[in-house]
Amino acid sequence: MATTGRRSAKRSTAHKPSQDEAQAASDGKLIYTFAEGSAGMRALLGGKGAGLAEMTNAGLPVPPGFTITTEACNAYYAAGRELPPGLWDDVLAHMTELEAATGKGFGNPENPLLVSVRSGAAISMPGMMDTVLNLGLNEQTVAGLILLTENERFGYDAWRRFIAMFGRIVQGIPASAFDEPLEALKEERGARADTDLTAENLRGLAERYGQIVAEQTGEPFPTDPYRQLELAIRAVFDSWFGKRAHDYREFNKIPHDLGTAVNIVTMVFGNMGSDSGTGVAFTRDPNTGARELFGEYLTNAQGEDVVAGIRTPAKISHMREELPDVYRQFEEIAEKLERNYRDAQDLEFTIERGTLYMLQTRSAKRTAPAAVKIAIDMVEEGILTREEALQRVDPAQIVQLLLPRFDERAKAGAQDRFLGKGLNASPGAATGKAIFDPDRAVEAKEAGDPVVLVRIETSPDDVHGMLAAKGVLTARGGATSHAAVVARSMGLPCVAGAESLRIDYASRQMRAGDVTVAEGEMISIDGTTGEIFAGELPTIEARFEDEGELAILLGWADEVRRLQVWANADYPRDAERARAFGAQGIGLCRTEHMFFEEDRLPTVRRMILAATRATEAKRRRDAGVELTADERETVEVFDTALAELETLQTDDFAGLFRAMDGLPVVIRLIDPPLHEFLPSYEELLVEVTRLQDRLGGDGDGRSPLDAVGDRVTPAIARGLEKVLGKKDAGRAMKLLRREGKASTATSAPDEKGSLEAELAEKTELLNAVEAMREQNPMLGMRGIRLGLMIPDIIRMQTRAILTAAARVDDEGKKALPEIMIPLVGHVNELAETHRIIEAEVDRLAKETGRQVAYKFGTMIEVPRGALTADQIAEHAEFFSFGTNDLTQMTFGYSRDDAEGKFLLQYVDRKILPVNPFQVLDREGVGQLVRMATQKGRRTRKDLKIGICGEHGGDPQSIAFCHEVGLNYVSCSPFRVPVARLAAAQAALAAKEAKSR
Ligand code: ADP
Ligand code: MG
Repeated sequence: MATTGRRSAKRSTAHKPSQDEAQAASDGKLIYTFAEGSAGMRALLGGKGAGLAEMTNAGLPVPPGFTITTEACNAYYAAGRELPPGLWDDVLAHMTELEAATGKGFGNPENPLLVSVRSGAAISMPGMMDTVLNLGLNEQTVAGLILLTENERFGYDAWRRFIAMFGRIVQGIPASAFDEPLEALKEERGARADTDLTAENLRGLAERYGQIVAEQTGEPFPTDPYRQLELAIRAVFDSWFGKRAHDYREFNKIPHDLGTAVNIVTMVFGNMGSDSGTGVAFTRDPNTGARELFGEYLTNAQGEDVVAGIRTPAKISHMREELPDVYRQFEEIAEKLERNYRDAQDLEFTIERGTLYMLQTRSAKRTAPAAVKIAIDMVEEGILTREEALQRVDPAQIVQLLLPRFDERAKAGAQDRFLGKGLNASPGAATGKAIFDPDRAVEAKEAGDPVVLVRIETSPDDVHGMLAAKGVLTARGGATSHAAVVARSMGLPCVAGAESLRIDYASRQMRAGDVTVAEGEMISIDGTTGEIFAGELPTIEARFEDEGELAILLGWADEVRRLQVWANADYPRDAERARAFGAQGIGLCRTEHMFFEEDRLPTVRRMILAATRATEAKRRRDAGVELTADERETVEVFDTALAELETLQTDDFAGLFRAMDGLPVVIRLIDPPLHEFLPSYEELLVEVTRLQDRLGGDGDGRSPLDAVGDRVTPAIARGLEKVLGKKDAGRAMKLLRREGKASTATSAPDEKGSLEAELAEKTELLNAVEAMREQNPMLGMRGIRLGLMIPDIIRMQTRAILTAAARVDDEGKKALPEIMIPLVGHVNELAETHRIIEAEVDRLAKETGRQVAYKFGTMIEVPRGALTADQIAEHAEFFSFGTNDLTQMTFGYSRDDAEGKFLLQYVDRKILPVNPFQVLDREGVGQLVRMATQKGRRTRKDLKIGICGEHGGDPQSIAFCHEVGLNYVSCSPFRVPVARLAAAQAALAAKEAKSR
């Protein structure tokens, strides 16, 4: 049972009130008997009450009872915690009815009626009042109960349980006050289990409990059953407003006015001997979905004994031998309930002297594999239609099926190894040796070890280490940090921004609280939850090919959905995976990711450093000006680097076209500002400073920085201050000094030359980076602007794309290239870019004597681009909404700053309903999407429109894309199956809405 987490019960299942519930206004009726209710009245009767009513009306054996509505709860609160007028009289009337139905009397010693009082809101949540059993007992009724049942032991067992429960749950006395005397008694009597205690023992215990209540509350235990009932009802209402429930609702954004219902249920007794018992069971295995009863029961026990771990319960299958008739009946009921609810159920039952009673039913929580299997099986069994089955599986769960995940049991058992929690930046589980350096990560991988790369934060220089790792852990950075973005694109589990970790590269270790993890020690990270553990955790690898049932379900989804699903993929490997997952095209290939690879970065940097001057020189040359030798050299360097990149990119694109044979591939031309490919200004500054100081050393073994603080030249100090701020600059200088000491010897003469060369090189780089730095790179020279300023880059990319397409066509495959321009704001930008590219295409065609077909389109990610989409569509054959940037620019947020500083608080404080970077903001950003779609299609009827922002993999956002009429969504490969299902659900929801 561990996996179902029953003890932490009162689970929440997302629940949208259905229409009939909305209509189920009670007209002031505050109590419903079970016969009067139904499953559809969940909002009014709570989940438990609605279930009891539904079972009653289905003819199942439910002990008679009634439900006080959630509206009564709200009225109680509105009246300042007083029972609303008429409620108590109504309770009395219903108790009289219950007496008539059962032939017993509440408080009647001859034949006492006992009840349970159970809370039950529409959504289960922690902090709600626990159930009180055996209510109605006092000294007289217990005597009557014993006479009637001729079972003294049972009577006193019920009696002591009731006092303890009432004392703990209604009167707030700590459980230990009752547990301790019980344990002491068991010890004294040498009893192993409760069941070994005699009637006499239990009677003594009940007496002792009575005294405890009197001591703790200063009043005798309430003996009047009606007084007991009133206190219990109030306690249920009060629990709705208790701190835990309140906080839970706040956290989960559940309205506070849902209220809880109160269920009053005639007691049935599982503690009447070996032919009695109590249990819980799922109609199907919630872990695997297998069609067999799954659960546990205990004989001679009551209520929650099964989950309280008092005795070891027996497997439900054991009941087949022990109580065969009951088992058969239970099987029938399970089947009936499943057909009634058309879903797997989670049941609670009690057997009283061979008679079965049902006490609860609810939809069963299940793992992702179980969800898929149950949906498919239920179609085969004729319970669900395919369309319904599709709606039963949560798309978010699908991801779990495709990523390695931790064995939940193992994780539950590893809580003592918990190291901390970071941002769940990229889902999946990874276990491996903690390695603090990318090169050593590669070495470890080559040695055959699993690696988790641990960095304070990552940069392009770490990518090779990431590629060698099973997972990535960083101490700094948010959902768009380099680590997070790259890990997601690689399908690599990542926990980012685990601020509580102290990572020390020098000593190759990290600290989490008082635990130290040295390099090479195993750690485990869960990118789905953000948890970090010391040591190994067994992972379960997922293989899409093995998920046969998922494939069936997604096959059905494909028949239903209208939206196509494409994938964002930069490498052939990702494209292949995406295709295997069912992608119908590549919606976004970010060419610059290819630039970041280690072996290319030097070429890329050479190209960038020459770019501006070379472009300027070429312009002058074209205008007929004679270039200087220096200028000619710059152009030469630039052109050579570009040519090298062209060769590399041609291979890259050919790989993608091959993988996507016959399917469209959208390649976005260069997007980020160029300085992103260069080392960071701050780092360079530090390096240059260090080099200067080492060269300035006079050979006495002392660091020059020791000798002269002002050796940190004023210019450098100013630079540091400008970049880092006064405080951090001070710290950086101290750091430099310390490092100076650490590097023991100063340079030997022969070393000097190479140091000087390095300094010259770094200084040049520093100057170049300085020149390219932008105040606000997100809004700076990037995207289409960059292509217009340095057109040779997009010319090169165009040639690479078309050359690759021709090559792949020659191989007998079909390349369908689409060239996409990022960041258009004004139609003239696109018109000019289009001219540049068409000219290049023509030139290539002349050179090669061959025309290659391609499509030309643009991203819509600048609000002005969306607003003028009709003009832009004159030049674009397709649009793709880049909703990451569009969201940034529509809200005026820089995502990293927003998520790091205020956005999460905004969501917490309900200033924003959700994080708009995760779920597309329909009202604002969505309006731009809708408008641009309409305007674009007005200009060009067959304009193909997709979305390639991260929202393309989010089910809610996908629903919006369906509504707006996009042609496709494009998401990361791992989300393709999710999107296939979500797109089907969107189509089904739209169909339903239409038919209403
Ligand atoms: P929870 O919401 O924690 O599941 P329940 O109200 O379902 O709480 O009750 C807890 C336990 O008490 C369950 O095992 C249930 O079967 C048992 N129980 C509740 N009402 C009765 C009753 N009238 N007779 C016998 N057992 C009951
Ligand atoms: Mg229950």
